[in-house]
Amino acid sequence: MESHLIFKQSREGRRGITIPTNKYYKKNINEIIPNKFLRKSDSNLPEVGEQDAVRHFINLSTLNYHIDKNIYPLGSCTMKYNPKINEVVANFSGFTELHPLQSEETTQGALQIIYELGEMLRSITGFDDITMQPVAGAHGEYAGLLLIRAYHKLHGNARKYIIIPDSAHGTNPATCIMAGYQTIEIKSDENGIVNIDKLKEIIDEDVAGMMITNPNTLGLFESNIKEIADLLHSKGALLYMDGANLNALLGIVKPGIAGVDILHFNLHKTFATPHGGGGPGGGAIAVNSLLSDFLPIPYISKIGDRYQMRYDKKNSIGNIHSFYGNFLVMVKAYTYLKMIGEENLEKISRNAIINANYIKERLKKYYHLKYDKNCMHEVILDGTLQKNRYGVRTLDIAKRLLDYGFHAPTIYFPLIVSEALMIEPTETEDKDTIDKFCDIMIMIAKEAEENPELLKSAPHNTPVRRLNDALAVKKLNISFEE
Ligand SMILES: *Cc1c(COP(=O)(O)O)cnc(C)c1O
Repeated sequence: MESHLIFKQSREGRRGITIPTNKYYKKNINEIIPNKFLRKSDSNLPEVGEQDAVRHFINLSTLNYHIDKNIYPLGSCTMKYNPKINEVVANFSGFTELHPLQSEETTQGALQIIYELGEMLRSITGFDDITMQPVAGAHGEYAGLLLIRAYHKLHGNARKYIIIPDSAHGTNPATCIMAGYQTIEIKSDENGIVNIDKLKEIIDEDVAGMMITNPNTLGLFESNIKEIADLLHSKGALLYMDGANLNALLGIVKPGIAGVDILHFNLHKTFATPHGGGGPGGGAIAVNSLLSDFLPIPYISKIGDRYQMRYDKKNSIGNIHSFYGNFLVMVKAYTYLKMIGEENLEKISRNAIINANYIKERLKKYYHLKYDKNCMHEVILDGTLQKNRYGVRTLDIAKRLLDYGFHAPTIYFPLIVSEALMIEPTETEDKDTIDKFCDIMIMIAKEAEENPELLKSAPHNTPVRRLNDALAVKKLNISFEE
């Protein structure tokens, strides 16, 4: 049986080609694709040999920037090296050729992976239950807030507000609004963490919960997390922790024990799936026992040595994604965890933290550091010195980095640090690479002083020069030349 479409280019165009022999789809292509979209003439593909084709694509791939090429210090994104073994395993035909409607009898291996991965994640973070369905961090947040909503509804009190620190990740307030809540912003104190006294003033019985990014987007650990949880619980509210930055906590902190009620994982960040092009992701959420009955269905349970999809959660918020979520991302996370071993996870976080602090110490003489404290997995420097003295903006610094063959850090985020440069080296970079990155950052600081124009007109040697972002947003023009 022919199972896929072959868009063969012929002199006659595509007319007369039929799609699969499956009885539902046995239609002439003209009946499916409106005539106006059908090609009227040949597509004029170049006639080249394999060698030229390979060289063409290799050359293109080297114009692109990726973690296989150099450090990717994009703060908040955890662009770590993703071991190639993950891809090998995720490409096993037993995984790639599964059909979501296959019977449980024939998918035991896949169900086992989803189940065991969930168990490992629970144990790493100290929670009672988990769902693997969400497919992104923000999707996990959304599912988590639906749990909070369902929980309060069952207890007969529709609460209105979610408290969010001003150092939260941008997806947090957006998710609150999508879930139908209003947000109350709480300012960080002079140490860059949640101000407990302010929290005490704000919190009342109208507050459904709080969403806290920990470590926060200043790269700092919210050391009062237990006190925050107790305060919320004393008013019947719940604590959601954005765990996208778990790369700083693995094997060191168990948020479930610290009083957090819901936590999302970014499987594609912490647990090694290539990301950055917009997916695919995995945003599993773990919960304490209070919320277990609200989790999405289906879930997977183990009975004897068999795995089963089950639907028996009385108060479930229902499906939040079709079937099992992004299964192959789970395969990669599973491979990664099995390879490293739960007992070694702590090394990941310790190295991520050491690397970020090393950069902080090397660069703080050259770039302003608003919160001069030990940081976690990322450090937030800023370009205010360069702006005030030489009129050089953080954007210019970022563009100049491209000239030296480095990806820029995250810039202008978090919002509470002006001219922010948010640098996350991850644990997978060695000292040589980090030193090279720091050397270049120091050189750029000197260039800003001696020749600011060089930065303002950067990049100079990339395939595309500086784009006009504002114009691109207003007059988006994406077209493919034939
Ligand atoms: C990346 C990130 C998110 C969002 O995750 P997505 O998978 O991009 O939706 C949320 N919070 C923090 C702290 C993040 O770093």
